[in-house]
Amino acid sequence: MAFDSLTEKLQNVFKNLRSKGRLTEDDVKAALKEVKMALLEADVNFKVVKSFVKEVQERAIGQDVMNGLNPGQMVIKIVNEELIRLMGSETTEIKLQPGSAITVIMMAGLQGAGKTTTTAKLAGKFKLKGKKPLLVACDVYRPAAIKQLEINGEKQGVEVFSMGDKIKPADIAKAAMEHAAKNKNNIVILDTAGRLHIDEEMMAELQEIKEAVTVHQTILVVDAMTGQDAVNVASNFNDKIGIDGVIVTKLDGDTRGGAALSIKAVTGKPILYVGMGEKLSDLEQFYPDRMASRILG
Ligand code: GDP
Repeated sequence: MAFDSLTEKLQNVFKNLRSKGRLTEDDVKAALKEVKMALLEADVNFKVVKSFVKEVQERAIGQDVMNGLNPGQMVIKIVNEELIRLMGSETTEIKLQPGSAITVIMMAGLQGAGKTTTTAKLAGKFKLKGKKPLLVACDVYRPAAIKQLEINGEKQGVEVFSMGDKIKPADIAKAAMEHAAKNKNNIVILDTAGRLHIDEEMMAELQEIKEAVTVHQTILVVDAMTGQDAVNVASNFNDKIGIDGVIVTKLDGDTRGGAALSIKAVTGKPILYVGMGEKLSDLEQFYPDRMASRILG
């Protein structure tokens, strides 16, 4: 389960805090030092950890907390609140165009991050909300990706638009828009090509798609298991093409949780959903408060 090792470590720190009637400044500092270690071991970004611990410490070493009835409990409450803040406080919805206007969503990410699977998962979510999404196969380098999108689209009962692998992604996107207008689709989701590493060609291709059609939301898919690499990928994509939000996949297998905890703080862009398994229904909206509760166990 996600965050297992982080949860276990934090619970140990908190058990210690709760067992003390009164807390001295040194008790709080010692506890926060352990929280810091736990977060670093969870692969949370170093700068993020530093400012997190500083914030908690400033709040915890106040008169109200130290002289309160249950100081240990108060410190835990502060950690909880700051964790929620770290992850962006509020749930961010994918912004849709008003009325019957078509919303174009471009999915981006490195190969293997789970982009194609997540694209189909997301289409399923929109369908449940009564929308009529169209999936578009813009990954022309991997014929298997087109097939995979078609299979997943069919499972979700969502139409997939593809033109094979001989046409430029930007042209496919343009043709898909005409198709969507005719078919009264109100959401178009472009599944773009990923590469093993970030490279100029991939960024240029995404840029070209953005120039060919109006993209309303660019969503980056990153793999939680890659920890701080996922955070670096998010920063990089945000700098180069601009992203509106992130979907963190494979959280079900990530015992550390560093990516999920760092992305908002490092990139300023919110996590929209998290992938919790391989099944097409395994996509959960991201609630910072629920995630904090999950982490604290
Ligand atoms: P793409 O190359 O980015 O399009 O990646 P794919 O969509 O092909 O996914 C790569 C692998 O990750 C596949 O085996 C997926 O089933 C798997 N995958 C995607 N999302 C999740 C997730 O949230 N949890 C788990 N456990 N596996 C996932």
